[in-house]
Amino acid sequence: MQVITSKRQSQTLVRDWQKQGFTVGFVPTMGHLHNGHLSLLKEARNHSDKVIVSIYVNPTQFSADEDFDTYPRTTEQDIDSLTTSEYCDAVYLPDEMYAAGHATMVMPDGVASGFEADSRPHFFTGVATIVLKLFQHVPADITVFGQKDFQQLQVIRQMVSDLDLDIQVLDSPTIRAEDGLALSSRNSYLTPEEREVAPLLFQTLTGVRTAITAGMPVSQQLQQAQDQLISGGFSDIDYLAFCDRQTLSPLGMYQPDSILLVAAQLGSVRLIDNLPVE
Ligand code: AMP
Repeated sequence: MQVITSKRQSQTLVRDWQKQGFTVGFVPTMGHLHNGHLSLLKEARNHSDKVIVSIYVNPTQFSADEDFDTYPRTTEQDIDSLTTSEYCDAVYLPDEMYAAGHATMVMPDGVASGFEADSRPHFFTGVATIVLKLFQHVPADITVFGQKDFQQLQVIRQMVSDLDLDIQVLDSPTIRAEDGLALSSRNSYLTPEEREVAPLLFQTLTGVRTAITAGMPVSQQLQQAQDQLISGGFSDIDYLAFCDRQTLSPLGMYQPDSILLVAAQLGSVRLIDNLPVE
């Protein structure tokens, strides 16, 4: 596995592969890798000959009061797990990203409004900007994003379509711990007591999905679920919504191709999750 650090090296590597007739898959991450990330590599390898991963903690998607400084950075351990994985051909650790005087940002609208954007107004501008820049550094044929960050996935799809980017976006299912908690780099912030409570988020989504598909009223189910999360130990619910899966418009009654989205605060940790409703 090659470890590269400059934009030029990355572009050259990817273009050389393509000249040799290989297709290239790209998985952007912020590191502190877990099995959720590794599942994206496998999906990338299923659809391309070569796989390249980037690890970069992107400052522009954090607000001043968020955890940019303390975000877990475990690069050596990450390189070890990528080396051991049979699905990774190169890791890109950008040594330079925002030059002095950088003043151009991508400001997505549409599926980027509401939900995460209500709590984190800076977030999707930072994400869209870094992903567009990374696509320039890593001119791959396909890219794989996790369904875990479902709104983010739809924002990337929208940007690729709106800006005519020459890359195909694939998605991959959420990988969970045995008790249902979606794997996340930020789970390492949970205290042992909070970690016991955390699976309630997924259990609650599962319960709401069962009730909604059985024809129970959506708004009543969402309210009951919020109450259940609060009484179970969550301190705040940023949103719990039932939406159309493509547009993310909230739905008042069951329809297929929909999704439940949730973000809730547990101690100092903000957990997000979702559950497709067929
Ligand atoms: P991050 O490092 O948190 O920026 O995530 C990098 C990529 O991994 C994103 O496409 C995420 O959606 C994806 N991802 C994060 N957690 C999971 C998970 N538990 N299962 C599948 N994909 C995930």
